[in-house]
Amino acid sequence: MKQKKFLLPESEIPSQWYNIQAEMPNKPLPFLNPATREPMKASDLYPIFCEECAKQELNQTDTWIDIPEEVREQYSAYRVTPLVRAYGLEKALDTPAHIYFKNESVSPAGSHKLNSAIAQAYYAKQQGVTNLTTETGAGQWGGALSYATKMFGIDCAVYMVKVSYEGKPYRRSIMQTFGANVTPSPSMSTRAGKDILTVDPLYQGSLGTAISEAIELATTTPNCKYALGSVLNHVSLHQTVIGLEAEKQMALTGEDPDIIIACFGGGSNFCGISFPFMRHKIAGKTNTRFIAAEPAACPKLTRGKFEYDFGDEAGYTPLLPMYTLGHSFKPSSIHAGGLRYHGAGVILSQLMKDGYMEAVDIDQVESFDAGVLFARSEGIIPAPESCHAIAATVREALKCKVAGESKTILFNLSGHGFVDMASYDSYFSGDMQPYHISDEELAKFIKSADALNNLA
Ligand SMILES: *Cc1c(COP(=O)(O)O)cnc(C)c1O
Repeated sequence: MKQKKFLLPESEIPSQWYNIQAEMPNKPLPFLNPATREPMKASDLYPIFCEECAKQELNQTDTWIDIPEEVREQYSAYRVTPLVRAYGLEKALDTPAHIYFKNESVSPAGSHKLNSAIAQAYYAKQQGVTNLTTETGAGQWGGALSYATKMFGIDCAVYMVKVSYEGKPYRRSIMQTFGANVTPSPSMSTRAGKDILTVDPLYQGSLGTAISEAIELATTTPNCKYALGSVLNHVSLHQTVIGLEAEKQMALTGEDPDIIIACFGGGSNFCGISFPFMRHKIAGKTNTRFIAAEPAACPKLTRGKFEYDFGDEAGYTPLLPMYTLGHSFKPSSIHAGGLRYHGAGVILSQLMKDGYMEAVDIDQVESFDAGVLFARSEGIIPAPESCHAIAATVREALKCKVAGESKTILFNLSGHGFVDMASYDSYFSGDMQPYHISDEELAKFIKSADALNNLA
């Protein structure tokens, strides 16, 4: 029998996270205070984030950061996650490529998001914080944080993007099952929400808006901090457990990945699987290709601009140097809710600019085509977000077929799609559109970022 799964014992759960900032040839540009344009220090972030997370956010010196024992203990509920050789998918594509995937869908929350949720809930507890607040798009991050806060005995309040609150009721039930308080965003409970609803009472919400609401609650409530599930440097840091494990598991297969692929929302699962491998590329030892697969409806890496922008719609966050579509960006209601964010992570934006990685954009019909093929050949129903990574993998595997060469491709299966079957229904009904956004539409939104860079 061919070996399909590459497993490691719990004792191989990483004991340190990998901080790529310390080894980047060009460090990320500083976060700027929007009022003064001065670079920000970690302590400037303390009103919003837990102190340890704020320190990790701006840490450009320590290559390795210890994972607290309590966090490793929580990781052991589902880590080390399996690395799997996708023989079924290879056969379905009739490709000479060797395809592997790291299966993060096995976490209790159903996605990779728990890797950072556990760490952030732990640091909150350590600091004596009693409440965490956050936003969630598709509900994956909210579900993960609800679980993690429950494990550490902290209260959790979640602003859920309205289109998902209504369209994905079971994600809301999951959060409520883990004891979280869930509010649809925009809501009338914050100034940011009220302002937006006044202009557009029917607005279906976006991550940018929900972030504004959650930050406002955190800064106006005693003993309450804000937690973010993507985009930020400390989130990507926590996600490096994915790549660190995958590196050891790839060694068991006797192969080195030529191409590493992950879907891309704010970058955390992409950074998580890529950075431990990218360090060897930075050191000049390998020439691995790294491909971020983003939705054609929200193409910040392929069609956005590298400049300073806010991380949220209302402008409560620092100014971040990143690829962005403009903080006023209003994405269309595609099914991969977790990929509808206007900006990319700061570290990864710099690495993209410096040519260490590439990006492709994929429309939702192509992504579901690939997701269904994967389900039928591997027996796992992928999250709509993860379908983008599978579609990019399929493209590369078919190129191998045409060229008659065998490459080793590793992709991250960021989550399962059990709570997303309504999206699959829409795909099977034939109503789903291969949505692309026009240049004119994009140009309209990017102005909101240009204005901050004095380019408008
Ligand atoms: C949130 C989410 C994503 C996108 O977030 P990243 O930070 O870009 O990883 C991708 N897949 C799943 C399953 C998610 O829940």
